[in-house]
Order: sequence, then structure tokens, then C-alpha cells
Amino acid sequence: MVKALDRRQKSKSDWLRYGDEMRRPLLVNSDFGKSNKIVIVGGGLSGLCCAYRIAEKRPDIEIVILEKNNCLGGVIKTWRDGEWICDVAVNAARPHPSFWRLVQDLGLSDAFKSSNPKAKARWILINDVPHKLSFLSLFKIGPFNLWRSILKSRLGGQSVADTIPHTEISDALCLGIVNDRASNVDADFLIPSITGLGGKPPLPSALLRQKIKSTYPIFTPKNGTLASFQDGMSTLIESLTEKLESLENVTIKLNSKPSSADEVARDFQIPQSAVVWSAPGKLIDGGMTEISVFAIGYHKSQVSHIEEGYGTLIPDEKYPISGILHESDCHSTKRAPDDHRLFRLMVPHRRWNQSKDSVLTCAEQLLAANPAIFSCIGTRKIPTYRPGHMMKITQTPLNCSYVGWGVSGVSITHVVAEAERLAALL
Ligand SMILES: Cc1cc2nc3c(=O)[nH]c(=O)nc-3n(C[C@H](O)[C@H](O)[C@H](O)COP(=O)(O)OP(=O)(O)OC[C@H]3O[C@@H](n4cnc5c(N)ncnc54)[C@H](O)[C@@H]3O)c2cc1C
Repeated sequence: MVKALDRRQKSKSDWLRYGDEMRRPLLVNSDFGKSNKIVIVGGGLSGLCCAYRIAEKRPDIEIVILEKNNCLGGVIKTWRDGEWICDVAVNAARPHPSFWRLVQDLGLSDAFKSSNPKAKARWILINDVPHKLSFLSLFKIGPFNLWRSILKSRLGGQSVADTIPHTEISDALCLGIVNDRASNVDADFLIPSITGLGGKPPLPSALLRQKIKSTYPIFTPKNGTLASFQDGMSTLIESLTEKLESLENVTIKLNSKPSSADEVARDFQIPQSAVVWSAPGKLIDGGMTEISVFAIGYHKSQVSHIEEGYGTLIPDEKYPISGILHESDCHSTKRAPDDHRLFRLMVPHRRWNQSKDSVLTCAEQLLAANPAIFSCIGTRKIPTYRPGHMMKITQTPLNCSYVGWGVSGVSITHVVAEAERLAALL
């Protein structure tokens, strides 16, 4: 089997700027940038960031964003009820200088805070017993077994279950990130630095990480921490929208749903190479899974037996809940009224009978009875990334350019870094 190859050359300065993001291919049409007009399909974080970075770099290029809904932001939305604040989708960013640069450039530094360093602990519920994840978890897998699987994954196209041969641990990892079981998820997509996708960096990894650390604006994140906005992720979307609306070379068209790059090219009289497709499911349509998200809050005295931490993953399908995130523990800014704690529950539709009562009963069993608040705050679709996904996308002919979480990376740090990489080509 041939390992998936990146389509572009990578320099040492690229690795220093983007780190492990350089492992992920940038799916850019070779004629991208030759037109003086670019149309971006999709007004989620990815489309908005691409528009911002391109507009900033090239004021001479006209940019149009087409969004099928009547609002921007895609899956990102912050729910509020009085003093309770909870993100429906992403709630925090992993450390990456591209994200920190975006926050600084948008003037949001004061609202962007490191997560609570005391709330790092993550647990997996195995046979109804919470296991804290740590270096010792390696011994549950068996270091030799793990090493053999990792070596095999270097051939490419393997699943996460093949690469991390411990069902509960690999399922928990995949459920927590892509709402799917490990046997359905491409290891090259989810854990490329383990499978070796994209080749070796030009510097030893530890040295690279150290050098990258010195490039963060605003503050240098501590190991194992995340960072989030005081009032939730909607802050970022609102700021990007405001910025784009102020730029003369950017037009945003809501309620606009083209079905192909060809249609966009005809409507806007541009070549297809000037289309950037940032709506998921176009390049590879592997289908989507669905998840509902609930917020549940308690007075602190009711949940004093729940240790402070980041959250618990629940691979066991007898529970409708696949993850409990300790929202008010992990953010350093306020997410709940005084003396209260807020948790976010992830409920995959695959294992849920659609009754809110069944979620409440399960939450009361796992957390505590009689919550102060319990609310379904949204439902989201998540792209699937079957084993072999990365190999397929690097081999598919590109009529236009493809970005966003439906293509080569699932996280917001990925889509933000990808927008910088795309604009850097102009
Ligand atoms: C529940 C959940 C939890 C998450 N947690 C995290 C996390 O903790 N950390 C993290 O880094 N990331 C997380 N993510 C992922 C993160 O939210 C995504 O990486 C990011 O928001 C994707 O942005 P996007 O613009 O690529 O896609 P989307 O947000 O899906 O935006 C795509 C846009 O395209 C529009 N569109 C679709 N089809 C068309 C069409 N034909 N024409 C015009 N417009 C169209 C859609 O309406 C949408 O606005 C999470 C996601 C979910 C759902």
C-alpha cells in the first residue's frame, strides 16, 4: 500500500509556523490565485477564516461568501440562559499559534483566557468504573502491542482501532472527537503524528515544539491546557463577521446554496479554480453522524462527589450519553451562577431513543438527581472519516480547492491554520 502524500512542498519555516498541521494535506487547485475574484462556499469558521486571511493579504481580490443558512458560524453557537453559558459545538482551542494569531489580529486578546490548569483530568468509564487517563493507560494497552500496531499503521489507511488496540480507549478517543467508533475512523486523519502521515519534520519533534512555543502571541500556553473565550465561541464568529462586513472587498450572501463548484463558476463567471469549497461532504461524502448536546447544572453541594476535571468519556453503548464535559470546571471564566457547576452531555443519536427523559435519567445516575437546569441546547451533524479517508482525498482530482473540517482535519485549530496556509499561497 502506498502512503498518502502531501500535494505541496514543505519548507522548514512552514513546519515552524504550522507544526504538525504540515502533516495534513492542503487541497488547493493548482490554478488557485490566478483569478481576481474568489467565491467561498460555506460561512462556518473555515469559510470565514479563509475570507478574512485572503482579504487581509490581497485587498485587490474580490471575495464572495455564500452561506446556505440565514446566519454565519456553521456548527458553532453559544447557548445562554441567565448566567449559564455553554457552547453547543467547540468550546475551547487546543494550543496552536495560528489560533492565537487569529485571536490577536481580531483584537480579542483580552477575552481569550487559558483553561483552568486544575481541571485537566480526563476519565473513561469502563465497566461502570471511571479510569483516569494517564501515561499508565499505556499499560492497559500493552506497550509492545501498541508499538506493533503503530508500526503497522505506518502503511497508511488503517483504522484507529487497528492503531490503538484497546477497544474502550480507542472508542472513547474517537467518540470524544468525531462521534464514531474507532473501527470506523481513519488513523491517518485522527492521529497523523502517530501514523507518520506527511513525513518527518525537519527537526526533532521536541525541538520543533520548543521553537514553536516562542512564536505564540498573547500568552504562551502551558502543557495540557486549552484556551477559550469569556463569553463562549460565538465571540469569535461575531468578531469575524463584523470584520468581514467592514472590508470593502468582501460580500456575504446568506440563504445561498449552490450545489457544485461548476454552478458557482457559471453564476459568478469565474474559473472553478477560484472556488473554495468549505462546506463538508463535497470532496468525499462518507455520510454524517448526528449528536444532540445537553446542558445540565447543579448547586455545588449536589455534585461535591464529582472530582474537578475536564470530563468523562463513556464508550459503553448501554448509556445514551457518550461524554460528560465539566464546562464550569475547565473554563477559567464563569459558565454558571455562583456556587453552581455546569456539565455538557454529548448524546449520539446512534445510541439514543430520542426521549429527553432517558438522557435525564442517565445523567442523574452518573452525576446527581434534581439538577437546577437541564436543557437540550442543540443537535449537530459530524462528518465521517472512514479508514483510508486521507489516502482518498490526496488522490482525488481537484476541480476547485477544498477546506474545512470535512476534508483533512477536524479541529478548529486545523481550519484556522489551513486558512493561513491557503492565503500564504497568494
Ligand atoms: C458537538 C461538536 C463538538 C466539537 N468540539 C470541538 C472541540 O472541542 N475542539 C475542536 O477543535 N473542534 C471541535 N469541533 C469541531 C469544530 O466545531 C469544527 O472544526 C469547525 O467549527 C468546522 O467549521 P467549518 O467551517 O469547517 O464547518 P461548518 O461549521 O460545518 O460550516 C460549514 C458551513 O457551510 C454551510 N453550507 C453547507 N452546504 C452549503 C452549500 N451547499 N452552500 C452554501 N453553504 C453551505 C453550512 O450551513 C455551514 O454554515 C466540534 C464540533 C461539534 C459539532
